[in-house]
Amino acid sequence: MSAKLIDGTAVAKRLREQMKAQVAASRIKPGLAVVLVGEDPASQVYVRNKGRAAEEVGLQSWTHRLPAETTEAQLLVLIDDLNRNAEVHGILVQLPLPKQIDAQKVINAIDPAKDVDGFHPINAGKLNLGLPSLVPCTPQGSMILLREAVPDPKGLKALVLGRSNIVGKPVAQLLLQADCTVTIAHSRTRNLADEIRAADILIAAIGKPEFVAGDWIKEGAVVIDVGINRITDPNDATKTKLVGDVAFAAAAARAAAITPVPGGVGPMTIACLLKNTLQAAGIGQK
Ligand code: NDP
Repeated sequence: MSAKLIDGTAVAKRLREQMKAQVAASRIKPGLAVVLVGEDPASQVYVRNKGRAAEEVGLQSWTHRLPAETTEAQLLVLIDDLNRNAEVHGILVQLPLPKQIDAQKVINAIDPAKDVDGFHPINAGKLNLGLPSLVPCTPQGSMILLREAVPDPKGLKALVLGRSNIVGKPVAQLLLQADCTVTIAHSRTRNLADEIRAADILIAAIGKPEFVAGDWIKEGAVVIDVGINRITDPNDATKTKLVGDVAFAAAAARAAAITPVPGGVGPMTIACLLKNTLQAAGIGQK
């Protein structure tokens, strides 16, 4: 079997166009404040891309760049200001934070109604209870891509590989809400290959380059590869390239549909961040 490619770049573009029209038709100009502490190069790229995408859709966006030596107290003062600012509908603090700052304390300080990352305990709790909430962006984007391949995944066996609070656990909740039968696998899981072989849907989020072998994939399964790993290009040792957590070519030979890396879940994460900002501003659906 040769898998259908689930094109995250195209789906994200479609979403951005819909949002642009919604913003243009609204009297509210949604505002997104992004906070970056320190000089982490990958974080700088993410933050730049988020700001660019926000402006393209017609949002107001502010980037607060703070030095690496910023204290937790200083960051909490900024969060408090943003919480009180009526023009700011969404607040995102780029992770990771420097080690002198307790990331959970900072997340807890964000007004849950402005928590467009969906990481606040109130939003995580609501997601677990199946209540409307701001849903973490990568899990939300993964589900949109899954539905491109399987509009109604009801009753299918889904295996989530990885149990982080930002990807694995929330995506497992969303799969459960979609009436899938969900297994969460992690570094202590026994017979992982067999668990994956039983799955109609695989969501891979472990951060290990091409870890999932092609022959672990069930014939006809749908594979959503969340992993983003930079490796040395096997064809040119002077270059690097991005790969996912799944051995793409071998998996594509067995799967019914698969997301590429890059161009799969990555672009959806930013699109869903904008979607959450519109939701926080009261535009669009829940
Ligand atoms: P974390 O490091 O927080 O979590 C990794 C998870 O994978 C853990 O639950 C860990 O298990 C599990 N794991 C690690 N090694 C193995 C193994 N050998 N076998 C089984 N399970 C294993 O990662 P994140 O969830 O933050 O990110 C996962 C990947 O997704 C990364 O590549 C990241 O770059 C990418 N990502 C992509 C995004 C996007 O926009 N596309 C956004 C966010 C992340 P345990 O709990 O037992 O330690």
